[in-house]
Amino acid sequence: MTTPMRNEEETASRDAPHRPAGQPGRGPEHRRGPAPVAEYDLIVVGSGSAAFAAAIRAKDLGASVALCEAGTVGGTCVNVGCVPSKAMLAAADLRHRAGHGPFPGVATQAGPVDLATMVAAKDELVDTMRYDKYEHLAEEYGFALLCGRGEFSDGDGFRCGGGEMHAEQYLVATGAAPTAPSIPGLPEAGYLTSTTALELKEMPGSLVVIGASAIGLEIGQLFSHLGSRVTFLEALDRVAPFEEPEISAAMAELLRDEGAEVHTGVRVSRVERTGPRRTVVFAVAGEEQRVECDQVLVATGRRPNTAGLGLDRVGVDLDDRGAIRVDDFQGTTNARIWAAGDVTGAPQFVYVAAAQGAIAADNAIAKLGRTMDWKAMPRVTFTSPQIASAGMTEQEAHDAGLAVESRVLGLGALPRALVNRDTRGLFKLVAEAGGRRLLGAHILADNAGDVIAAVVYAIKNDMTVNQLAQTWSPYLTMAEGLKLTAQTFTRDVSRLSCCAV
Ligand code: NAD
Repeated sequence: MTTPMRNEEETASRDAPHRPAGQPGRGPEHRRGPAPVAEYDLIVVGSGSAAFAAAIRAKDLGASVALCEAGTVGGTCVNVGCVPSKAMLAAADLRHRAGHGPFPGVATQAGPVDLATMVAAKDELVDTMRYDKYEHLAEEYGFALLCGRGEFSDGDGFRCGGGEMHAEQYLVATGAAPTAPSIPGLPEAGYLTSTTALELKEMPGSLVVIGASAIGLEIGQLFSHLGSRVTFLEALDRVAPFEEPEISAAMAELLRDEGAEVHTGVRVSRVERTGPRRTVVFAVAGEEQRVECDQVLVATGRRPNTAGLGLDRVGVDLDDRGAIRVDDFQGTTNARIWAAGDVTGAPQFVYVAAAQGAIAADNAIAKLGRTMDWKAMPRVTFTSPQIASAGMTEQEAHDAGLAVESRVLGLGALPRALVNRDTRGLFKLVAEAGGRRLLGAHILADNAGDVIAAVVYAIKNDMTVNQLAQTWSPYLTMAEGLKLTAQTFTRDVSRLSCCAV
């Protein structure tokens, strides 16, 4: 049984042992793109999605650009976030489905799991995507990719791995890293983060997951589908607490049906270690309970990476959650320093980071005064079935002072789900009362992440649910759930023939 004790605060990037950070007193190691020079139009700190989107946009605008990266190029998404987790989730989902084939007459079965091989395949994919989607682009676009820890120096200079340089404009895009609550015994017992959980080489027989939002649900279900006994411990009163309550309830039920234990309204009081095993002690409604396990995964959020950048020396303010304070234009409290992505406390999605990075470059280099368009921003949690949402929840619409009408349609009413023989899940549409402008859609279903793209277009273009109900939707697709749920605003869809409007 592997028992990784690497629970020190991780940077957003994996360590890169084959690429040493720059040494003090020397110039930064030059990794890719043109050789470093002393003067740039834009220096970007970090090399994740926000950083690369900014560098590409700045090059398109004719600027000279350098990226300064202390760890592995590519940031969270490709190295330790979206790509590796979704690669492992796809494999785990396939195994789970093999063991739970729903079709009479077709027998399937799940075999044993070789986690080390699975992780090695995931690592290979990550290496390829890191090269294709990040490293290689430095040469393609002609910006310098420098290896070293970046730090603002006194005055208006900058150091990258000991090399002094200067830019007209700077962008901080250093991301965020997993953080753990202060639970007595937790550091001594050792725990997994979203990063180290995806590096395990041996299956944990049992896993306790502290925090049941996006990361906890994805990685908890990943190990549940691979065969671990999983217990979810969530402090708030429901799992997926930032989603619609109907989705939280359905998700808790399906996790339990799959054999996981789910506790909400939990206060974790301590973690004890006995040999290779851990015991998590927690209370629900004042009653103490204990659960033993091989591994503990902490998935209680991520904190912005701002330490050691010298931000205080250059007057860049942080907010009370430790994120860089930015205005609508991605500007910080220093007029020449911009920030984008997770380090700003923005919603932690790679497409948000990339959008902010491009806007920051437009504003820094071309003074375009661009701002983010948050309307209809989607989010997907890659559980099985997936949770996908865009626009407002019913509560958010109420909080915004809107009069709201909403409808929920269970997948039992959706032909695609019936032929799949899996009716777990639902669609919920939130509309403004009166004109029924679509405000938000919330889906728990297979392929919900694909279906939500249509919702993004609908909300962005101010469509009403009546228009959705009268728009084409192909029969026997999950996306038909949008049309059917829209129809429920005016009629009982259980009394309609196929595709009737
Ligand atoms: P989160 O902030 O979404 O959720 C943390 C959860 O931990 C909450 O439910 C919270 O109530 C719970 N919690 C906090 N302290 C606790 C405690 N002491 N005991 C029990 N529960 C506790 O954080 P996350 O799930 O770690 O995700 C981090 C960020 O990454 C989020 O912004 C998320 O949106 C993003 N992310 C996105 C995706 C995706 O797009 N598919 C996937 C993973 C993560």
